[in-house]
Amino acid sequence: MPDLNASPSSSPSALAAVEEEILRACSDAKRDRGSVTLIAVSKTFAADAIAPVIAAGQRVFGENRVQEAKGKWPALMSAHPGLSLHLIGPLQSNKAKEAVALFDAIHSVDRPSLCAALAKEIAAQGRHPQLFVQLNTGEEPQKAGIAPGDADAFITACRRDYGLEISGLMCIPPVEDPPGPHFALTAKIAARNGLANLSMGMSADFAIAIQFGATHVRVGSAIFGHR
Ligand SMILES: *Cc1c(COP(=O)(O)O)cnc(C)c1O
Repeated sequence: MPDLNASPSSSPSALAAVEEEILRACSDAKRDRGSVTLIAVSKTFAADAIAPVIAAGQRVFGENRVQEAKGKWPALMSAHPGLSLHLIGPLQSNKAKEAVALFDAIHSVDRPSLCAALAKEIAAQGRHPQLFVQLNTGEEPQKAGIAPGDADAFITACRRDYGLEISGLMCIPPVEDPPGPHFALTAKIAARNGLANLSMGMSADFAIAIQFGATHVRVGSAIFGHR
């Protein structure tokens, strides 16, 4: 595990500022605040940096590594019932068992072998994390995710071949692109596949993502500070 960052004293006020911006974006888009889930991305931050954010009322958190999450979340979750934990980073099939046991949602479903591993663990454990298929809307070779042209077939295979209930789509636009077109494409693919949830928008662009229909925004540095 990497060295974890110490507690920034300002995280509750940063959380309040993010909350205010979400409210404003919802109001601009004529959406209910309740239609957007804020996932506070706590990767690289230690439990003592997370505790003030829980104390400020935040209940949904995101981590990008199974091992790191296993090291800090079981204790936080037993101390604070009602938290929900989302895996937003890549998942190796051999960690599917741990991921299904620990997480309430997995945003990185991106290949058939992982679908098979998840289906097996969901059946074995009787736990049903909310599943998002990750799209690589920029078709970046170094990035995980399904290419837009393969998305319909992959979503169909998740459902038909693996019996997985897919809840939505997740995307991470290329850093150098304006994010709007990537969010719009993700929303369009979700709509034609009957998927209600859109995991899109990070610290730099969550208000834009809400404009394009995001139901889950994944916000890290704007809440916890720089990593
Ligand atoms: C780290 C991370 C985030 C949060 O990024 P910030 O820019 O710090 O808000 C969101 N989504 C994914 C997939 C991440 O890995």
